[in-house]
Amino acid sequence: MSSLLEVKKLKKHFPVKSGGIIPRQTGAVKAVDGVSFDVKKGETLGLVGESGCGKSTAGRAILKLHEPTDGEIIFKGKDITNVQGEQLRKLRQEMQLIFQDPYASLNPRKTVEQIITEPMKIFNVPKRERQKKLSRLMDVVGLSSYQKDRYPHQFSGGQRQRIGIARSLALDPDLVICDEPVSALDVSIQAQVVNLMEDLQQEFDLTYIFIAHDLSVVHHISDRVAVMYLGQIVEIGEVGELYRNPKHPYTQALLSAIPEANPHKQKERILIKGDLPSPSNPPQGCKFHTRCPLAEDICKQVNPELKQVSEHGQQAACHLVKEVVAGH
Ligand code: SF4
Repeated sequence: MSSLLEVKKLKKHFPVKSGGIIPRQTGAVKAVDGVSFDVKKGETLGLVGESGCGKSTAGRAILKLHEPTDGEIIFKGKDITNVQGEQLRKLRQEMQLIFQDPYASLNPRKTVEQIITEPMKIFNVPKRERQKKLSRLMDVVGLSSYQKDRYPHQFSGGQRQRIGIARSLALDPDLVICDEPVSALDVSIQAQVVNLMEDLQQEFDLTYIFIAHDLSVVHHISDRVAVMYLGQIVEIGEVGELYRNPKHPYTQALLSAIPEANPHKQKERILIKGDLPSPSNPPQGCKFHTRCPLAEDICKQVNPELKQVSEHGQQAACHLVKEVVAGH
């Protein structure tokens, strides 16, 4: 599989300003701080971590809803890091976002028809084609055509997310960034929406970046998973391998918190002490050292790089995990 998207050392820092009439920059919130990964065509990359770890900001920087501070974004082989104007407009056709909150992301004064066809109108798709596409999209996301004149408040949360998904597919995108798409929904509805997204991936040949804090949902839908902590990726790998054999202490702690489905099986929970440090003043060395149960002296001084830790390409950033050289 070839890479659809390559992200290289991506940074998004938000300036912190203070002072009187003319405020000066006194620091920066390092929301994303040197993140690199690629996404192959047709796959789903899960991006997980606690709130505030930078996963949503990374997604928005890739979509250029936030201007990246540094790094490179390569999409379909082209460097799109600095595209503007008409080029950016065209790019927006190929990359779409599904929002977390189906209540807030739909305009309450527009009908379903207006919401779903709006992106096509902006890109001058002829009316007949818009109508045809509207019927097809409503059908594939599980809504009926007779509902097209209704307003968002007349639908349940799950149905609203279906409307949001239909809108995101209106321009036949290649890449869809799903920002916590099911976390605002009831648990009973989450599985239906995730299954729908899997079906749509097949039908529309989509590539997903699936951002979530719920590791069970990510496990279900992802091919590979990247774990973020304080703006950096600390572990990345194929989903089965990473969940079976997490190498990084932070990933191990996150996975230990997933409830065990089998009541006869005991699972030891690894508790992470303290709160997530502020991204405006991250710790020196390994950013996880203030909370890591295994931290050693070197961890306070040197920030570990991601390195290969399994023969299948799993990578982790931890001084205590042994590097595995492919083929050895
Ligand atoms: Fe913990 Fe040190 Fe590994 Fe960081 S580098 S995760 S502090 S053991």
